[in-house]
Amino acid sequence: MKVDVAIIGAGPAGLTAAVEIARNGLSAAVIDEYYRPGGRLLGQYYEDPYAPADQRTWDGKKEADQLEEKARSLGVHIFMNVTVWAVSGKWRVDMAGGDLPAITSNVLLLATGSVEKALPVPGWTLPGVISVGAAQTFTNLHHVAVGKKVMMAGIDPLSLSVMIELKNAGVHVAGMALPPMSSVTGKNKTPLQTVERLQDVAGLAPNLLVRKLGKFALKRFPKLTASGLRFNLLKVNNVPIHLRKAIVKIEGEKNVEAVTLQSVSVDGKPAGKTESVEVDTVCLSNGLYPLIDLAQTAGCRLVDMPELGGTVPLHGPDMTTKVSGLFVAGNITGIEGAKVAMAQGRLAAASILQSLGKQAAITVDEAMTEVTNAREKAPLRFLPDIEEGRIKMNKIWEAESAHG
Ligand SMILES: Cc1cc2nc3c(=O)[nH]c(=O)nc-3n(C[C@H](O)[C@H](O)[C@H](O)COP(=O)(O)OP(=O)(O)OC[C@H]3O[C@@H](n4cnc5c(N)ncnc54)[C@H](O)[C@@H]3O)c2cc1C
Repeated sequence: MKVDVAIIGAGPAGLTAAVEIARNGLSAAVIDEYYRPGGRLLGQYYEDPYAPADQRTWDGKKEADQLEEKARSLGVHIFMNVTVWAVSGKWRVDMAGGDLPAITSNVLLLATGSVEKALPVPGWTLPGVISVGAAQTFTNLHHVAVGKKVMMAGIDPLSLSVMIELKNAGVHVAGMALPPMSSVTGKNKTPLQTVERLQDVAGLAPNLLVRKLGKFALKRFPKLTASGLRFNLLKVNNVPIHLRKAIVKIEGEKNVEAVTLQSVSVDGKPAGKTESVEVDTVCLSNGLYPLIDLAQTAGCRLVDMPELGGTVPLHGPDMTTKVSGLFVAGNITGIEGAKVAMAQGRLAAASILQSLGKQAAITVDEAMTEVTNAREKAPLRFLPDIEEGRIKMNKIWEAESAHG
């Protein structure tokens, strides 16, 4: 099979791009290893405080279904349960799991999204320990309770959002605590930095309760001093948020039976006292990073950019790369929410259409403005310095473009 545009990833970025490309008369194929289209949209269900009153509930599954329906009605070929294991030439897409071994295309769009960072804690291989993303998918997509009594390790915008989603689904969340300090968590998970981060997301967090937490923390710990952080009185949705305790061990014979919490100093060092809390499930949260393997395979230069969540493909503000015929969109370019990913998908499509000399319904400039607007109104902000990261990337792009 040959198509004009092959798109890897049926998340919001890939599907939105496919719709835009097909709407403008080109053929597109979307390939994804999951069993149904939608990517990370499928697990999302929360209140968006910035949306108009009648559109506050963000139901990712519904959004995914609508995008899939639009794409199929426009003739987009969608391959599910198919893993792309290599991209080469200009372009050959090698696939495993379906009837076709490969497809070819004139243009390749990588919209492979992001993945969760592991969070090793002693005992983390026991049954009953799951990642926060898995908890989100179980709860909102499959409507399966992850456990009877849950402890969450990692206090960040995503884990707070998922905690509220778990509570709304009737799951008992016994508390949230910090991860233990290690080379994996880095130095940015101390109590002090966690509170700073919560203040930073106070106006942007996914719902009012998380915003309340940010404001509450700000009020309670105005100077972010050690003494201000000493008390453990913070609760959101009746869930204790242990800003001065870390989960240092997950206990159990055959399954999770308890966690050991240890008090920590403001800079995250163990401060002596430990306690055991009985739970049957532990959700681990340590942030996300862009999934870039195929960009590397395609010969795209990679840039380390912590502000964007890790290593990302070098790309322009219009989603082009230095490899001709290769475009990127969504979380592969930096960790942001679904609405930004959708806007980036539309932008990538506009750039692709322009590169092929086709008239698009939306210009590249208009689509770039949509991305900025989506970013400004993002209900869930994963990284505090995302704008700085975008500016830095644009500067590198311009500098490299100036040198040919
Ligand atoms: C665990 C987790 C939870 C999140 N929760 C939220 C949330 O609550 N709210 C929010 O706004 N954002 C959330 N996000 C951010 C989320 O990534 C964005 O909202 C949005 O889904 C990004 O869109 P995307 O299209 O770039 O990638 P994704 O939605 O991640 O889609 C990428 C798709 O590419 C596919 N893929 C990747 N590699 C291959 C390959 N080699 N072969 C075939 N298929 C491949 C994947 O299967 C996936 O379906 C979450 C992200 C993660 C990882």
